[in-house]
Amino acid sequence: MRFAEVAVDAPTGHDRTYSYSIPEALAVRPGHLVRVPFGARRLQGLVFELSPVPQVPETRSISGVMGDEPILSKTRLDLARWISRYYMSSLFDAAALMLPPGGRIRHRTLLELSPNGITESTPLTPSQRRVVEYLRRRGIMEHDRLVAALGPGVRNSIGPLLAKGILTRSFRQSGPAVHAKVRAHVALSPRARPDVVEWLPHATKRAPRQAALMARLVDGDRAILAAEARKEFGAAAVSALIAKGWLRQRDVAMDRDPLAGLTLAPPPVVALTPRQQTIAAHVVEALGDLAVTPREFLIQGVTGSGKTEVYMEAVSGCLRLGRKAIVLAPEIALTHQTVERFASRFPGKVAVLHSGLTAGERFDQWWKVRRGEYDIVIGSRSAIFAPLPDLGLIVIDEEHEWTYKQHDASPRYHARAVASKLAEMTGAVLVTGSASPDLASYFSGLKKEIRLETLPQRVRAATRPEQERERPLVPGRGKVRPVPSVNSGQALSGAEGMGVSEAEGAEATATAGALPRVEIVDMRSELRAGNRSIFSRPLSAAMAKCLDSGSQIILFLNRRGSASYVQCRSCGQSLRCRRCDVAVTYHRGAGRVICHYCGYRRLPPTKCPKCLSYKLSYYGVGTQSVVDEVASRFPNAKTLRWDRDTAKAPRASEGLLEKFRSRQAQVLVGTQMIAKGLHFPDVTLVGVISADVGLNIPDYRAGERAFQVLCQVAGRAGRGSAPGAVIIQTYQPDNYAIKAAAAQDYQAFYREEMAYRREHSNPPYSKLIRLLYAHTNRALCEREAAKLGALLKERRDALGHSDIDLLGPTPAYPPRLRGRYRWHIVMRGPEPRKLLDRIAVPGGWTIDIDPVVLT
Ligand code: ADP
Ligand code: ZN
Ligand code: ZN
Repeated sequence: MRFAEVAVDAPTGHDRTYSYSIPEALAVRPGHLVRVPFGARRLQGLVFELSPVPQVPETRSISGVMGDEPILSKTRLDLARWISRYYMSSLFDAAALMLPPGGRIRHRTLLELSPNGITESTPLTPSQRRVVEYLRRRGIMEHDRLVAALGPGVRNSIGPLLAKGILTRSFRQSGPAVHAKVRAHVALSPRARPDVVEWLPHATKRAPRQAALMARLVDGDRAILAAEARKEFGAAAVSALIAKGWLRQRDVAMDRDPLAGLTLAPPPVVALTPRQQTIAAHVVEALGDLAVTPREFLIQGVTGSGKTEVYMEAVSGCLRLGRKAIVLAPEIALTHQTVERFASRFPGKVAVLHSGLTAGERFDQWWKVRRGEYDIVIGSRSAIFAPLPDLGLIVIDEEHEWTYKQHDASPRYHARAVASKLAEMTGAVLVTGSASPDLASYFSGLKKEIRLETLPQRVRAATRPEQERERPLVPGRGKVRPVPSVNSGQALSGAEGMGVSEAEGAEATATAGALPRVEIVDMRSELRAGNRSIFSRPLSAAMAKCLDSGSQIILFLNRRGSASYVQCRSCGQSLRCRRCDVAVTYHRGAGRVICHYCGYRRLPPTKCPKCLSYKLSYYGVGTQSVVDEVASRFPNAKTLRWDRDTAKAPRASEGLLEKFRSRQAQVLVGTQMIAKGLHFPDVTLVGVISADVGLNIPDYRAGERAFQVLCQVAGRAGRGSAPGAVIIQTYQPDNYAIKAAAAQDYQAFYREEMAYRREHSNPPYSKLIRLLYAHTNRALCEREAAKLGALLKERRDALGHSDIDLLGPTPAYPPRLRGRYRWHIVMRGPEPRKLLDRIAVPGGWTIDIDPVVLT
């Protein structure tokens, strides 16, 4: 095996490796991170295979190996291959997801003219001359920037110039370096111990500081930080003892543990309900027996129905079998509750991996996980790649969350799809859960491809032991007080909405908690009554009452970006595309409304197409206007704003939420980030300023997203002992997504939404691939889009793939982002890949397989 197939860190096609020869002196195995020459540059690469024959007759050799042990296991290499193929990313990009923090290093190649490399008479091609002239003016320059400045054609000139000694090359590493953190420690030299013990009684007078230090070390027998020893006992004493050979100074690796210093309340005492037990038992059964199928579970249950308790029970079953578990949660849910609940139930066994950690913390956690020091990894999307050995169980909480899909960098993977593949490769069991599952997941559940389980009712929060007077003698047998129903009047009751059968209702009566009371306010009648404020009269009244009684309020604006849409204020209808049934977007610049799905565009109408009213409005309300409105109406209330602007860093949002939790403010105003699994016991009122915004996203999944977000927002209220109320303001009170969310009725929503999906052949009745082109030159962008569009169409017709729809080319939303114009094409059909694989997609296009957003 003299050759290695290496994936290199360069923009290559998917599933592509390059052959390199292995120098005698190097021990190279699959999974090793290596350095390789690539063109004029030197790049990082990852060895995928060894082989006796190379793909090409001429090979270059590997320049170096990083680390003794291969960094990726066989399973991870296979997973990287699958990701690269399925998501059409470079193999290195796919594998890089699994490298330790700081493991991916970009080598910069710098070029400069050799001092005496060139004379007047040296023969040069015109292109070589351009390179030389350019470098003469600029001095030293990075290879890639030179190519960017002079065009890709100059690549071929660089090699000969280097060979003739006209150019010289140097390499430099860039990117943040993350290392193990070491600190100097001092410890008693073991051989000196008898001498020290003898010396100590005589030394207390003569050398008190040395003696004090030695006394500490003889007793404690531990190393202490050198810096601390010098501070406490004096640098002279430390030096003297080192000189005597009694004290040794050594570097010790420090563990940056994100959970260090976290004081955890003991876990609440919980006795699982029969239904929770049954679900957990099914999971544990699959854990113990590879023959059990399906091995994927979807738990559908409203917020607070006890899903997390089931996850923890399943994890505990997994650990009993000697295997380990990965738990994924949306980023924001990780800042507090989920981590703390797992950490208190499984003390010392939980590692966390998410973007809120420092690079150093992530580095240390990664390596400890890799060494098998933790049984459970809990983290956000990318934690699915944690190097956990003996994987037995993967849990994905809030599985419908769109953040599980990486959409801004290659590979554009979905953590659920990767988890499913990883589970299949390792024999692990996958458990996902949500109050409002992704339609595709629920569809698989109904088809019995995955196992669907339901938890139809809220459980009343378990009592924390410290609050409970009579602590139960038998651990795990808590007392749960029954809760009187607070649902009354014409408000929709959650339990009814969920369509709970008699039997299920009876089973859970001892623990059933109340879903909040939900009221839908018709903003059209507010307008008719002359109220033009963004707060309806019922919301104002409820806020006033809430503030008086000293409880807290969340105001929620279901806003995504600032997509502006056109809506009729008489009938509530928003302007939609006739062909796609998605909301059209108003483009101020062009003065047109455009369908971002199919490209249909027109002048905005002056009248509502449905009711012929002239009251058309252009929308785009922001969180700040809500804050201002609160301030002017309730000058005494303290308000916090939470959105992408105020919570850039994860730690900033933690601070903000802590402020709200500790009641330093009464009102929290925010975007959909608020909806993600947060628990504020003192919030009794949630107001949705405008449910319509979410419905008017130019995307076929707008209804699904609006439903999910509204469901979760509703779940924020009444999580403590006081009952909660939710007020949803809308101009479309009869919209199916809003009505179903208010009733927390997933099935009703599912039925209606699936009918639309079927009618328009949208997923899960088809698959989508989105192709996006972005460029600063508007005309070029449009031309490229038209060219690929025509090519796709021509090939589709030639190959007879009449079942593949091509939507677009059309401008994406927003049509221009960070100075670059954006056009896209969406392919739709049972297997759009059949067509895409037969086409060489030109460079510059971004391919998104199974996109979650089309804007
Ligand atoms: P979900 O994950 O579905 O939102 P949780 O597991 O967080 O639900 O449960 C909501 C609350 O109810 C938590 O405080 C949890 O400890 C408590 N709980 C869950 N199951 C039970 C049970 N069987 N008995 C008592 N309390 C429970
Ligand atoms: Zn109208
Ligand atoms: Zn359309």
